[in-house]
Amino acid sequence: MTQIKRIAVIGGGIVGATAAFYLSQKNYEVDIYDDGVGQATSAAAGIICPWLSQRRNKEWYQLASKGAAFYPQLMHDLNESLTDSDIYKQVGTLVFKKNPNLLKKLEKTALKRLETAPEIGTLSLLSPKEIKAKFPIYDSEESALFASGGARVDGSLLTKKLIDQAIINGASHYAEKVVLSQPNSADYIIRSKTQAKTYDIIILAVGAWLPELLNSLGLDVDIRPQKGQLVQLHLQKDMSNWPVVMPDGEKDIIPFANGKIIVGATHENDGGYDLTPTKEKLALMLEEAKELAPELKNATITGIRVGTRAYTSDFAPFFGAVPNYPNLFAASGLGSSGLTSGPLIGKMLSQLISDEPTDLPLTDYPVERYIKKQD
Ligand SMILES: Cc1cc2nc3c(=O)[nH]c(=O)nc-3n(C[C@H](O)[C@H](O)[C@H](O)COP(=O)(O)OP(=O)(O)OC[C@H]3O[C@@H](n4cnc5c(N)ncnc54)[C@H](O)[C@@H]3O)c2cc1C
Repeated sequence: MTQIKRIAVIGGGIVGATAAFYLSQKNYEVDIYDDGVGQATSAAAGIICPWLSQRRNKEWYQLASKGAAFYPQLMHDLNESLTDSDIYKQVGTLVFKKNPNLLKKLEKTALKRLETAPEIGTLSLLSPKEIKAKFPIYDSEESALFASGGARVDGSLLTKKLIDQAIINGASHYAEKVVLSQPNSADYIIRSKTQAKTYDIIILAVGAWLPELLNSLGLDVDIRPQKGQLVQLHLQKDMSNWPVVMPDGEKDIIPFANGKIIVGATHENDGGYDLTPTKEKLALMLEEAKELAPELKNATITGIRVGTRAYTSDFAPFFGAVPNYPNLFAASGLGSSGLTSGPLIGKMLSQLISDEPTDLPLTDYPVERYIKKQD
């Protein structure tokens, strides 16, 4: 009889939670370790709309658009409704450009992308009146491009559901910070304040904290942290079908079904791992959002979320096996689109470990470019 392999997933954000969920359906013993401090997934705004991005990197686009297209399958695998779930819903996205020529150009790009990504849905340029019909608190004169396939996701609820489901399938979850060591080439030991355990396979899904964990194995990692802050508001309205609003600039507006509305987020390269909210930055974002939606002045502030994004020096994500370390897998560098690409990356890590073909070629996201032996 073959022995059941013991897998430790370190990091319970979107990547780790999805990998753990899919692995827990197979013949593995899965333990999830998650510190949770600074987690990007639970701080994230929740926008799933990669097709209208100006980014030109082909591999990034491939990953993000396939990641967005994977969401309905993920909801199905979690037995979640596509039309009536607090976790994920395709409500459409409105993208604004101050310059009308740029809006036209964006429509052209999107129409081209629609040829290979039908999940974009219907594309239409909307007048202020048509925008107001979809997003009733809109009060401005700008037009916008609407993509009906755009979605919003609640990162916290999604990871909770994935981890709860993994636990039902037999996985264990420890809310602990851990360190990693490799006593011999076949085993890995994970130590927390309360325990030390040996594993056959390790997944490092620790986002911005990957350098800290891999330094102990003598590895350097090309990852830097970026601070992101956003404001959570409550508005006494039924917003269950309101679209996500992406104005020119940093202040996106993401309405959720239960009266929750998010405004954000900042991208602070000099913020590092700091998690202190900065009142002035948040107030500025809110002021800008009110220019499009003045009724936001009636909303109550219910919270401030701060998280840490992980970036590589060329802004590209990576995932797969760590070279020269058997059965050690890592993913990081998801930047500001990780809620979009993270579930697919988590699923592909589970495919890789189970010797199944991966949905995308791993050579496009090479780990060895970003994780190197220390000199
Ligand atoms: C403010 C903000 C807004 C965003 N908005 C969007 C958006 O609208 N759309 C989108 O697609 N993306 C968005 N993102 C990006 C997205 O949230 C991230 O790219 C994605 O969540 C990263 O997931 P991850 O699993 O790699 O890392 P994380 O979610 O950061 O998870 C890593 C986990 O590992 C844990 N950990 C680290 N070290 C250890 C250790 N030693 N032991 C145990 N646990 C450890 C951490 O505590 C954390 O819980 C946003 C990010 C931020 C910060």
